[in-house]
Amino acid sequence: MLLPIKIWGDPILKKKAQAVDRLTPADKKLIQDMFETMDAADGAGLAAPQVGVSKRIFVFRIGEERHALINPKITLRSGEVEGEEGCLSIPGVQGRVKRAKRVIVSGRDQFNKQVSFELEDGEDMGRAATCVQHEIDHLDGLMYLERAEPKSISWLIEAVDDKGEDDIILRRVSRDDILAAYKARKLPPDVHILDMLRERVERKSGK
Ligand SMILES: [Zn+2]
Repeated sequence: MLLPIKIWGDPILKKKAQAVDRLTPADKKLIQDMFETMDAADGAGLAAPQVGVSKRIFVFRIGEERHALINPKITLRSGEVEGEEGCLSIPGVQGRVKRAKRVIVSGRDQFNKQVSFELEDGEDMGRAATCVQHEIDHLDGLMYLERAEPKSISWLIEAVDDKGEDDIILRRVSRDDILAAYKARKLPPDVHILDMLRERVERKSGK
């Protein structure tokens, strides 16, 4: 089942999520639905608060594999990497964030088994280390734009290049202007955003 994604400005995204004591059938169903929703939205990761559940659960990808982590803890961080990030809860936007290049993260999986991953951004794993840090921030009520280099924050704008082909260009914007646009539920008309997310942003009730 596809779950509605909460958009920046929703108070649940600012809350510290609760640890999961015992994995219930409802939690397992939630994880399946989060996998489905992440795939449908073409996301690299998705945290439970983004679908309205304030629990320490997230899903992510390493290449083609999908994984879930419950009560995740990063036990080692090393190196540094800076890259563009985006977020399904702030669609149509990107910004540069500094992260640890390599992390070891452990927790339980959707079968309640203790698991641990050693992740490093690079050719083999894509940006799995960055992704896990971004998702754990969600569990702590932090959005990546709060960590992003202010001058790097941009709308993704649909444009046409000089050969007449579709292109995406960046339009610099301040964090405050983005938040104001989301609050007013009025994004630039040419912003690049999935239809399923545009509906969420532009729905007046916010529900
Ligand atoms: Zn996110």
